[in-house]
Amino acid sequence: MRFIHVACFDDWRSEARALLSDEVAPNQVHWSPEDNQLGLFDQIDGETSKEKGADASLNGGGKSPRVSVPSPFLELARHVACHRDPARWQVLYQTLWRIVHGERRLLEISTDEDVHRLQVMKKAVKRDVHKMKAFVRFRKIEANKAVETYIAWHRPDHLIMRLAAPFFSRRFKGMLWTILTPNESAHWDQKQLTYGPGLPASEVPRADVLEDLWKTYYASIFNPARIKIDMMKREMPVRHWPTLPEASLIEDLISEAPARVNQMIENHEGFSETAARYLPIQQDLKSLRHSVNHCQACHLCNDATQAVFGIGPENARLVLVGEQPGDREDKEGKPFVGPAGELLNTSLHDAGIERNDVYLTNVVKHFKFERRGTRRLHKKPDSREIYACRPWLESELTALQPKTVICLGATAAQALLGRDFRLSKQRGGIQMTQWSERTIATWHPAAILRMPDKNRRSEMIRQFVQDLRQGNAVLE
Ligand code: SF4
Repeated sequence: MRFIHVACFDDWRSEARALLSDEVAPNQVHWSPEDNQLGLFDQIDGETSKEKGADASLNGGGKSPRVSVPSPFLELARHVACHRDPARWQVLYQTLWRIVHGERRLLEISTDEDVHRLQVMKKAVKRDVHKMKAFVRFRKIEANKAVETYIAWHRPDHLIMRLAAPFFSRRFKGMLWTILTPNESAHWDQKQLTYGPGLPASEVPRADVLEDLWKTYYASIFNPARIKIDMMKREMPVRHWPTLPEASLIEDLISEAPARVNQMIENHEGFSETAARYLPIQQDLKSLRHSVNHCQACHLCNDATQAVFGIGPENARLVLVGEQPGDREDKEGKPFVGPAGELLNTSLHDAGIERNDVYLTNVVKHFKFERRGTRRLHKKPDSREIYACRPWLESELTALQPKTVICLGATAAQALLGRDFRLSKQRGGIQMTQWSERTIATWHPAAILRMPDKNRRSEMIRQFVQDLRQGNAVLE
């Protein structure tokens, strides 16, 4: 058994070449990783001088015979070498052994256990490099020098400094900078990249002028209407927040977002007009239905035939809310009478629900469309139109006080359950809102009809019926 210590790709490459030359099988080698790169990365050199010369050979310049491998393997190995998994050297060597012993096309077999494991490691390393490029924030430390000097501290998941640093030397070519990580540091003097030992975050100055500028910039580009907290945390992991100046703003920006959205809606793009001033004093369903045809709160009333108000019993315990009337509904003045209405009827029947017991309405009361010759093609209402029309829906729901509201489609779901609601992920879940004890979101029947894939369409219908049944079951 041979015991070998390695810490970087070049070490491993030299050792692997020598082992292959001696025909040492993978099970005869014990690889000891040394993740503390101090001492092993202490050769202060031009960062990629060795790697730039790499070809599809395992030749690292030593005396062992040259070993030829497929070039993708070298690329894969360089990334995997930066992963923290202690088993990486072993998996790399056994994969290399198999490649040079007859399995030349091994890397093409993605289901192979070794190949799969290496690919997973490579992916994690690449992602970590991407995060480093995105989250390194330099602080100025030598403002009086002719050339400004900057320093940054970052905590990557893997040992990626040498993969990421060349990016910064290209991007910030005219600066003097140092990036510190717990394992290794990189320094750029406008000509050459050198590497040194890692250092703690305490070595980095806490604040500088640039930080305030960066915060101001970040606050100005932060769009509260597009806020997606889960995605933000995924893209900007919380563990990086301590080194990001803008992170101190995030909590306040998020908490202020709803008010800022309303302010945006009221201040910009002519969003100030809503249907509120067209509401009747008596807000029972009959008065609302009569008044809606006088509404001119948005431009949709100009081209549509008439407003299409909700229909159904005043004591309905189940309310279905769609997006907007379609072509047939616009002409007939009733919701859900077109092809989507036919699918709704059969689905209600399959769910054991009497259509006459249900109140049907839409988020937007006038038909929005685009003319193509003689045809009128449905157009999705935008946020301005939905906002303008909202008082009608709110008044309907207040008058009805239903037990259950079922939102049909994403527009209705986002109107009642929030802009972050994602139908594809949250369909069928039950939530409480100010209008009903239970609010459920499901597919819109028109979206089901538009689904080209037959199997998927059948599945959507099954889910649709199941959601309707669930909405009705809680009433029983
Ligand atoms: S769509 Fe709604 S807000 Fe716009 S005019 Fe019609 S009823 Fe009024």
